[in-house]
Amino acid sequence: MVLAQLGGSISRALAQMSNATVIDDKAFADCLHEIARALLQSDVQIRMVSDMRANIRRAVNLDALPAGTNKRRIIQQAVFAELCNMLDPGKPSFTPTKGKPSVVMFVGLQGSGKTTTCTKYAHYHQLKGFKPSLVCADTFRAGAFDQLKQNATKAKIPYYGSYMESDPVKIAVEGVERFRKEKSDLIIVDTSGRHKQEAALFEEMRQVAEATKPDLVIFVMDGSIGQAAFDQAQAFKQSASVGAVIVTKLDGHAKGGGALSAVAATKSPVVFIGTGEHMQDFEVFDVKPFVSRLLG
Ligand code: GDP
Repeated sequence: MVLAQLGGSISRALAQMSNATVIDDKAFADCLHEIARALLQSDVQIRMVSDMRANIRRAVNLDALPAGTNKRRIIQQAVFAELCNMLDPGKPSFTPTKGKPSVVMFVGLQGSGKTTTCTKYAHYHQLKGFKPSLVCADTFRAGAFDQLKQNATKAKIPYYGSYMESDPVKIAVEGVERFRKEKSDLIIVDTSGRHKQEAALFEEMRQVAEATKPDLVIFVMDGSIGQAAFDQAQAFKQSASVGAVIVTKLDGHAKGGGALSAVAATKSPVVFIGTGEHMQDFEVFDVKPFVSRLLG
C-alpha cells in the first residue's frame, strides 16, 4: 500500500531531525517542510497541509521548553497528534445496534467500490450476529442488480431489487419496508453512482434519503482519486447528510491522502477501509493504530 510510503517519508523527516546535533528552529522548520512535502505527494489537499504545519508550529514552542526537555519527543508527539487530528472529525458516527432496525444508505461515484462495499459491510455485521439485508436502488446502471444479487447470494444475505422498475426511490422504499417487516436489523441501501458528479445524481440521492430516512449515510470513496477527493466528498455531503466514510482500494496504488481530504470535507470519520476485491478484504478503521502503523 502506497500509504506506507507516506508514513516512511514522515518517519524519515522525523529521523533526520533527530540526527541534527541541535534541535533549533531551523531543524524544526526543515522537518516540517519534509513532512508537508510527503503529504502533498500523497495527494493531501494543499490547504490541509498548510493548516497542519501551522498547528504543529503552534503546538511546539521550542523557546518556551525548559532546558533538558526532549525536544525530539515533543515534536514527534505533536506530529502524531496532528495526523490523528486530521483523521478524527471529533464526533463518532452512528453505529448499528443488534436487534434494533437501522437503515444505512451507501453513496459514491460509479466504480468507487460501492456495491462491493455494501456486501462487505453486510457480511461484517452478519458475522457479529446482525440480520443484514441489501436493497439495490441503482436503476441507472444495467447489471447493478445482478451484481448485488450475486454478491448477496454468495454471502447468504437477503436482497431486494427489480429489473423492471426505473424509479430508485420506489425500490428503496419497497425494499426498506419489506425488510423492516422481515425484522432485518441492518437494511443496507445501495444507490446509483453514475460516472461523474452531476446534478441529477445528487438530486436522486436527496430523494432516496428523504424517502428512506437512513440512520446513517456512508460515502464510499476510491482511495486513489487523490486531489479530487475533497470536492467529491463535499458534493455528496451536501446532497445526503454523509455521516461516515469508507475508503476502498487501499491495497492498490492509492496514495491515501484522499482519505484525509474526505474526512475534512464531510466532517465524518472513516469507519472501514477496503483492502481488496474479496468479502473479507475489509478492515475496521481506528485512527490511532492507523497513524502508529503509518509512522512505523
Ligand atoms: P460501484 O460501481 O461503486 O458499485 O463499484 P463496484 O463495487 O462494482 O467495484 C468496482 C470495482 O472495484 C470492482 O472490480 C471491485 O471488485 C473493485 N473493488 C472494490 N473494492 C475494492 C478494494 O477495496 N480493493 C480492490 N483492489 N478492488 C476493489
